[in-house]
Parts: sequence; C-alpha cells; structure tokens
Amino acid sequence: MPSNNFTIKQLIELDACSKCYECVRWCQAYEERKDDLVAPALRLRAFRAMLKAERGLPLLRRLLGGRKPDGDELKAMAEGAYRCTLCARCAAACPNKIDLRELWLSIRQELAERGLHPNGLNLARDAVRKQRNVVNYPNEERALWVDYMMEAPEDAYQRDRAEVVYYVGCVGSFSPAVQSIPEAFVQFLTRTGADFTILGAREWCCGFPLLVAGMRQEMEVLKRHNVEVVREVGAKTMVFTCPSCYNTWLNEYSVELPGVELLHSTQYVEKLLREGKIRLGELGQKITYHDPCDLGRNSGVFEPPRAVLRSIPGAEFVEIEYNRARGLCCGGGGDLEISDPQLAGAEASSTLAAFEATGADVIVTACQQCKRSLQTAKEKKGSKIRVTDLVELALQVLED
Ligand code: SF4
Ligand code: SF4
Repeated sequence: MPSNNFTIKQLIELDACSKCYECVRWCQAYEERKDDLVAPALRLRAFRAMLKAERGLPLLRRLLGGRKPDGDELKAMAEGAYRCTLCARCAAACPNKIDLRELWLSIRQELAERGLHPNGLNLARDAVRKQRNVVNYPNEERALWVDYMMEAPEDAYQRDRAEVVYYVGCVGSFSPAVQSIPEAFVQFLTRTGADFTILGAREWCCGFPLLVAGMRQEMEVLKRHNVEVVREVGAKTMVFTCPSCYNTWLNEYSVELPGVELLHSTQYVEKLLREGKIRLGELGQKITYHDPCDLGRNSGVFEPPRAVLRSIPGAEFVEIEYNRARGLCCGGGGDLEISDPQLAGAEASSTLAAFEATGADVIVTACQQCKRSLQTAKEKKGSKIRVTDLVELALQVLED
C-alpha cells in the first residue's frame, strides 16, 4: 500500500482531469521530447490508475487488467516524473485549476519512498547530509567567493548581529559561474547602507533540492538549524537572491519566524526604489525579463522586478511573448540537471532563442540557476545577447 503522501484535495484532483491536454500543450519538457512518458496529463493518469489499483478499487483494477503495474512500468513512470522541471506551466494552463506542481511533488515523494528516484539524487542527499550543501564541498568554504572580491571588509560581511540576513544559497555560494550575483548584492547592500550579514559556514542548504527530489523528510534538520541561526542574529528581514531558497523559506520555514520579513532581492530593490531611498541611472539598452519559475509562477512575484527595470532611465523594456504566469522555463529546475542534463540543456536553448527574438540586448533574470542555464546556452550558441541578474544590473546603474 502506498504511504500517505497525498492530501484529500490531491486525491480529488487526481480524478478531476477532463483530458483537455492543455497541460501537454504548454509543457516544454514534452515539447522537447515528444514522449508520452513526459506528457503531464498521461503521467497524471498513469499515476492515478496505479494508486487506485493499489488501493483496491475494483473498477480501476479492472481498467488496469486487474493487476498492479509491474517493475518496468513503475520504472517508466519514475523516469517521466523526474523529467520535469516543476516549472508549473502545466498548472497555470489547466482549466480545472488542478495544482499539478504540488501533485508532481507528492508523486516524487511516493516514488522516492519506493526507491524509484534517479541515483544522482542520492548523491545530492548524501552531500547535504555530510557537508550541509548540495555540491559536496566543505561548508566552511561557503563564503570563499568573498575572498575573490576586489574590496571586501575585514569581517567578510559576517557579523554576529544584523537587521538583515542575506541568505546566499548553495548555487550562488559555490558555483563560480554565478558568484558575481552574491558579489553584486553585498556591494549593493553596502552602498545602500544596509545593516546586514551573510551567514558563511553557518548557512546550511535550505533543503529545496531534496524537497523536489521527493525527500521532504530530509529538510527537517536543515530547517531547525537555519531558523536557529537567523534567530541568533536577531534579523528583522531576510533577503534571498535565489528564488528556490526564497520559496522554501516562505512556504516551509516562515511559520517558525514570526515577525521576520522574507523578501526576494527583486522585492528588496523595488522597495528601496519605491521609498525613494535609491536612484538608478541611465542605461541605453533594450532589456527584457525572464521570470524564474520559483519566483513568478511558484511565489507570485511578477511585478517588482518589472517595476525596477521600467524605472531605469534610457532603457527600453520589452516583454517576451510568453511572460508572467505563462513564462518560459530555463530548464534548470526540479533537479532536471541531475536527472536529465540533455533535456535541461535543450529547454535552455529554446528559451534563449525565444528571448533573442525580442531583439533585446540584455536578458535580465533574478535567479542564479536561470542565469547559469541561459548563459551556458548562449555560450554554446555563440549568441551576443547578455544574460545578467537584476541585482547585477541594479548595482551597475545605482547612483550615489
Ligand atoms: S511542471 Fe513544467 S516540465 Fe513539469 S509537467 Fe508541468 S509544464 Fe511540464
Ligand atoms: S490541463 Fe488539467 S484538465 Fe486538462 S489534461 Fe491537463 S491536468 Fe487534465
């Protein structure tokens, strides 16, 4: 019998599909692969049949030929479940408002409990258990990027008490390709007079990569530690440049931290702008914006980054055809880079091409993973378009 990974609402949702296939039409993973295993509606149907057969409902057992799926069928089901970025484009398109992303998470939980997840995710889990970060480096090196900055204070931005905690996240901390984002943001915070700290080795992975792997239970120890550290610092605000960390703290941690405001960096910059505390200078370029899935669709933050970009004098802001709730995915979410890097790369290339069609000089995004995926696709193609993060651009045009 399956364990209890599904809420009553989800069990009802499993039955609510009207087979319109809108989700399939909007799924970029399916668009790339054209494989029924990946098609969201078919995955939903297969999983529903499996659960019902296992729960012993006679009608569905008959539909399945009176048997539970065999090992190969289960393996195929798992392959499809992990060839998904959890971008939630399918959920945004579903006319029956089925919360498909939450269902995909519960399905992965169910599959992982049966040991059907990709082996690469075990490596990620073991790395987090041992090193407290997903890349398996000593966690003492979490703030090593500060050493490479031209000008950094003696305390390397690590203070015992502060009003604001900047939670950097594993990718921003350890991936040289995107360390320019935390570097830019600590400079932005310094120049705008924030009383802030980073947590260095005291910061542990937020648990998002394990949550999306279907290993939610692994988050608990991480959550307890991270919440305790923020309490010790006495922060009133936490700010994140990583949308996945932000989404995790918002949905999984926030109840433990009453009175602490959680902001993504785009919201933080927009707030300063709105309150008249900063001014942005000229940029004579055409810019466009890529909505990171975990910031836009999955956290509802669409307008603050656009407000910042529109306020830059001289910049021409253009929208890509599919934006906000229908925005494209960079291919870097849902642990897809671990499960199927080729598919992740194919999605990044298609998304890059769609942005190039806007004629923009610069793609601005607000996520280290999106920047890394689009930058890699750009380099592979030899494209001239520049890919940057909003905090890097904000620092570039920040006026004293
Ligand atoms: S979450 Fe994204 S990749 Fe996964 S099924 Fe939905 S649209 Fe496809
Ligand atoms: S969009 Fe919703 S209702 Fe339509 S096939 Fe997909 S899950 Fe079913």
